[in-house]
Amino acid sequence: MAWLTKSRFLSGLQCHKRLWFDIHQPIEDSAEPNIQILQGKAFDEVVQGLQPGVVISRERGMPAAIAETKRVLAKGSRAASTLYQPAFRAGNLAVIADVLRRAGAQFELVEVKATTQVKETHLPDAAFQALVLQRAKIPVGRVFIGHVNNEFVLRRAGDFEGLLVEADITESVRGYLAEAAARTLEFQEVMASDRMPSIVVGPHCLSPYECPFLARCTAGQETPEYPVDVLPRGGKTVATLLADGYRDLRDVPAKRLTDEMHRRVFDATCSGLAFFDLAATTELRRLTYPFAYLDFETISFSVPEVIGTRPYEQLPFQWSVHVEYAAAEIRHAEYLAIESFGDFDPLARSLIGALPTAGPIFAYNASFEEQVLLRLAELLPGQAAALRGIAGRLVDLLPVARAAYYHRDMRGSWSIKSVVPTIAPELNYEKLDEVQDGDSAQLAFLGLRSRNMKPERAQALRNALLLYCRHDTWAMVVLRRFLCGEAEANLKEFQC
Ligand code: SF4
Repeated sequence: MAWLTKSRFLSGLQCHKRLWFDIHQPIEDSAEPNIQILQGKAFDEVVQGLQPGVVISRERGMPAAIAETKRVLAKGSRAASTLYQPAFRAGNLAVIADVLRRAGAQFELVEVKATTQVKETHLPDAAFQALVLQRAKIPVGRVFIGHVNNEFVLRRAGDFEGLLVEADITESVRGYLAEAAARTLEFQEVMASDRMPSIVVGPHCLSPYECPFLARCTAGQETPEYPVDVLPRGGKTVATLLADGYRDLRDVPAKRLTDEMHRRVFDATCSGLAFFDLAATTELRRLTYPFAYLDFETISFSVPEVIGTRPYEQLPFQWSVHVEYAAAEIRHAEYLAIESFGDFDPLARSLIGALPTAGPIFAYNASFEEQVLLRLAELLPGQAAALRGIAGRLVDLLPVARAAYYHRDMRGSWSIKSVVPTIAPELNYEKLDEVQDGDSAQLAFLGLRSRNMKPERAQALRNALLLYCRHDTWAMVVLRRFLCGEAEANLKEFQC
């Protein structure tokens, strides 16, 4: 019989069918890296460097790791007082803990999470480990969640003292142990059964994480073209409509929708005619040349790399600027730091030089650009005035687009990736090669920094990053003109 491990226990908590799939019809783990996993690994490595200890290798599989853990613990107090990645088995339950350390005659168990606070989902995770250790006769006195201290500031390279904080969750774990024990019995039955549990997709498929089997469970299902959940901030309205059996927004009686934005989305969806309110663009149309358009790409680290920065700060590595000096005069500038990342001075200097000294600077969801500019101003006192001046000239196109425009193909979203293809189909982000969103931009940046990439591959990735950021500012040029009712025809010759 397969062992009930921590990841399977968590699968079972989300859905019996997910657990059953894990055992009977698993999918291969994706070889693709993912930002959250990389953040977690980096934090784990730092934690292991904070206190000396023995790291139990997972390389030869779980049984070998369990045997190795036993060997180390058998040395008693002569063994290292801290074990990283120790593995335990009790009957059909098995677990790899993050940290186990001696505290007198007992042990302390630390579950390491690269989050900045304890989350509800951490409790069953830690409680399952405590249960397995208890049954494996390991006396656990206290249980902690070790997480990232978001007040930490990197003062010296490699000095991470203070990055880890531990929250004592012993009492909560004790309170959950009986439930965890009952669940292990329930889950072992699911695992042993030949029959797939009959569970239909629902909100549980996305909570607390998106289930990896979602595509399998929805395959062959007829999905409505305009599902009712396209209603923005639909909350209770959507839940009530779904409960009443409505799937496609076009089938909903108009009188069921009272919110003005919901009616707008409903009307545009049913009629196929885009909503456009010229009056909502009045302020935008009053602005005069030159117009600048700014977009940053940023990266954040669970373990800070740049002196003076905190965990998970958004640090810029790239910017793109388009400037419209006149209807027929548009220029582009860009900056990408790979090897020189962390030296923000040239990034800021080149940005200040690329922007006109007056006029609006458009961004989409401008609070993000503002936050990046103001943080740069803190880090670079010599350029603070210029950077704050740029932040003060930002004009956000997002609220204007939200108030003035809706096309049914936006499907309830005003992200620039949803809006722009409805007015300029050639600007569909899916047509971009491998960098199509913020996450893939971060992965491309990290890949380029890894230095073990062939030069041709590195050049292709660099080009993809530049194209993506340029695409964002160009999309804003097209969007502003559209919102202002200006001709778009002469734009094509400027497109980079
Ligand atoms: S997609 Fe939903 S129903 Fe299917 S296994 Fe996952 S959680 Fe269960």
